[in-house]
This record gives sequence, C-alpha cells and structure tokens, in this order.
Amino acid sequence: MKMGRLYIVGIGPGSKEQRTIKAQEVLEKSNVIIGYNTYLRLISDVLDGKKEVIGARMKEEIFRANTAIEKALESNNTVALVSSGDPQVYGMAGLVYDLIARRNLDLDVEVVPGVTAALAAAARLGSPLSLDFVVISLSDLLIPREEILHKVTKAAEADFVIVFYNLINENLLIEVMDIISKHRKPNTPVGLVKSAYRNNENIIITTLSSWKEYMNEISMSTTMIIGNSLTYRYKNYMITPRGYERKYEL
Ligand code: SAH
Repeated sequence: MKMGRLYIVGIGPGSKEQRTIKAQEVLEKSNVIIGYNTYLRLISDVLDGKKEVIGARMKEEIFRANTAIEKALESNNTVALVSSGDPQVYGMAGLVYDLIARRNLDLDVEVVPGVTAALAAAARLGSPLSLDFVVISLSDLLIPREEILHKVTKAAEADFVIVFYNLINENLLIEVMDIISKHRKPNTPVGLVKSAYRNNENIIITTLSSWKEYMNEISMSTTMIIGNSLTYRYKNYMITPRGYERKYEL
C-alpha cells in the first residue's frame, strides 16, 4: 500500500511575505494541515475549506506530532505539520523524527526550512548577528535550569552575541541577564523584538543595565538579542561589525 507524505513546514515569523515559495507550495498542495491554532491563523490564506484542518493548543505537541504521523501513514494524504519560524528551531521536527525512529517507521518525511525568529528579530534591529552567535531557549519546561545557566555562562564568557527564545520565566531571565552582566559592559545593546512581522510588532533597543524597564513588554512572542563586546547602537540600529575594520580602513 502506498503511504502518504509528511512535510514539517516552517512558515516564518508571521506575515505571508516571510514564507518561502516552497512552504507556500507545500501548504497549497497538502490535503491535511496540522498546527497550533495561532499558526493556523497566520496561514488562513491557504485554508481553502477543502483541506482537513487539525488545530491544537500549545501543550499538545506530542498529540500533534502523532496525529501528523498517523495521517501521513494513510495512503494518498499529503500532510503539512506547521511550525512558526523554522521547524528545527524549538519546533516540531526533532519530536517527529524521534517518534518515527522509536517506532521504527518507514515514512517519507521532509522538513521545509523557514525564517527563524532569531533572523527575523535581528533583521528588524539592523545587523546584530554579523559575528558568531548562539541561540538559547529560556524554557525550563524540558531542559533543567542548571543546564541553561551553564550554557549562558559559557556563551557570555566566549563573547558570543546571544539570542534568547522562549522568555517565559521571569526569574530565570533575570538570573541569566545577571550572569551576562558580569562579562559585558553596562551599555551593551540589548534588542527586544515582539511579534516580528506580525500586526502587533514592537521593537525596542535598550542596554544591559536598563533592560528591566521593559519587563512588561516581554511576552511569549518576544525574542531578545544581547550584543557582544563589539556591538553598538547607531540611531535605531543595533550593529555588530563584521570585522573588516581589523584589516581594512573603512
Ligand atoms: N520554531 C520557531 C521558534 C518556536 S519557540 C522559530 O524558528 O522561530 C517560540 C519562541 O520563538 C517565542 O517564545 C519567541 O521567543 C520566538 N518567536 C517566534 N515567533 C516570533 C516572532 N514573530 N517575533 C519574535 N519572536 C518570535
């Protein structure tokens, strides 16, 4: 019996223009679409009424992944499991592949990459990621707090630009910012981008010593970027120089 096909599709940060052409094609040709309700709203333009649409709330990730696998095992289905941004970056891809491997399934699965929040937020700020950077999730739901603190400490020591996703725990956020402050100047630029490329987008550039003033602006939809020792602010841009000035006169 012929099996269906499963796409794990990154839809980018929000607006349709930030979707890849491939993501658009896959969404259009899929007859089953599965995703968290907020993401389904972001792709309402492709939900034509003929597709089977399966929504779910935030916590039901395992249910969503298993449903997508079951649907794809049915012949003739083309299934799109939707993630915001990119599906590998704190999205559904790792979970789906893991479930398939554990169940020893032979299923056609393909990841469709998307513009992840780090890149979308960075673009809104100027060019803060022009040198080596690290991406860390501040969600301690699956990863122990100590492990997160350890990673932040190492990244801060090594002068990486740091991008934080999932700012869901205020205490943990304060703790990691205190760690970074031990390694960086108080005037180090800090960018806060909420809902990049969505209707309620909000962009703030502050500093390591003043970021707490904006605590109320931080939500589940915020990405935070902390500059390294070279990052500076010019007007409303956050800039990490690429290093040309070390070799050339600019
Ligand atoms: N797979 C997604 C990330 C999912 S984790 C991606 O690649 O972008 C959810 C976190 O992503 C949020 O807590 C927030 O930190 C970030 N995020 C997702 N969409 C965003 C957006 N439009 N603007 C700013 N941050 C966003």
